[in-house]
Amino acid sequence: MASIRIALVGIGKIARDQHIPALKADPNYELVAAVTRHEPPAGIPSYRTIAELIDAQIGLDAVSLATPPLGRHVIARQAIEAGLHVMLEKPPGGTVSEVEALAALARSAGVSLFATWHTREAPAIETARRWLADRMVKDVVITWREDVRRWHPGQAWIWEPGGLGVFDPGINALSAATRILPRPLFLTDAELFYPENRAMPIAAHLAMSDSAGAPIRAEFDWREEGPQRWDIDVDTDAGRLALSKGGAGLAVEGRILVDEDEISAEYPNLYARFAELVRSGTSDVDLQPFRLVADAFMLGRRTVVEPFNEQQTKERPE
Ligand code: NAP
Repeated sequence: MASIRIALVGIGKIARDQHIPALKADPNYELVAAVTRHEPPAGIPSYRTIAELIDAQIGLDAVSLATPPLGRHVIARQAIEAGLHVMLEKPPGGTVSEVEALAALARSAGVSLFATWHTREAPAIETARRWLADRMVKDVVITWREDVRRWHPGQAWIWEPGGLGVFDPGINALSAATRILPRPLFLTDAELFYPENRAMPIAAHLAMSDSAGAPIRAEFDWREEGPQRWDIDVDTDAGRLALSKGGAGLAVEGRILVDEDEISAEYPNLYARFAELVRSGTSDVDLQPFRLVADAFMLGRRTVVEPFNEQQTKERPE
């Protein structure tokens, strides 16, 4: 089967760490171009804008967008209008409505659109989903605590409107929860913690419910300098399920079902799925996690906390 000629747009941290290695290793694809405003990746022909790439008529089939979420819509629209299949990093865009508009545009243009959620491809997610499928969920606690200085150094866009602040990682937790829990979730209350010098929150407390009334609490916090935590604990009628390390590990009542050290294939899995969508002429745009984040901004009470400065390190006693 002919390989899919693909270009990668936005050559930042995730493009270099995950997208380029996954594409180079996958025989479904030929990585034929990059779109970047900076130093191009070695050996890949590069263009400054999506318009220049399209004008060059290099026989492309698809593009994968790894730019910040706000601004993707304009790029994706040009690609779809040029007849290209489009894969979107998470979060899929700047607003829910613009991504819905893209999905409609892709349908009418007859191309595939894939809104990816990489955490759903973590090794333990499918096992957790199957285990929970016929259980009665009683209570869920989601804890996503990480150090923003460690994971997002120099990324100014995450603090600007559309960058989502702590929901940039928090949406990964919501993508996992909406995949593994057997019933749909909705938001009931939220408190968002904004540094006084920033437009986006550094922490968030969410209260949700599933359609049977089970309480689901989520705590996202970017100020964690100790052990980093990406955990979902689910109490059920058949015991407690613990998903750890962002879906890498899984235990039920303390018995390990998936070892945290298993090799993760999140991005290879995403590209394999995109190839399936392209070849079957279908799209996959699940906006549940994105809607929960939008609802959190809609319901969230605002609490102002101390300013955040990236360079500032905590004062330590002599
Ligand atoms: P990043 O390091 O800041 O890279 C984003 C790249 O997008 C930039 O290097 C830049 O590349 C391009 N870009 C285009 N317009 C831009 C603008 N207005 N402002 C800033 N950059 C712009 O960010 P990233 O961490 O790779 O994240 C990109 C997306 O991947 C986000 O949606 C994020 O949630 C997702 N993601 C990130 C991670 C992670 O660990 N970092 C993990 C999973 C998913 P050029 O110089 O090539 O133009």
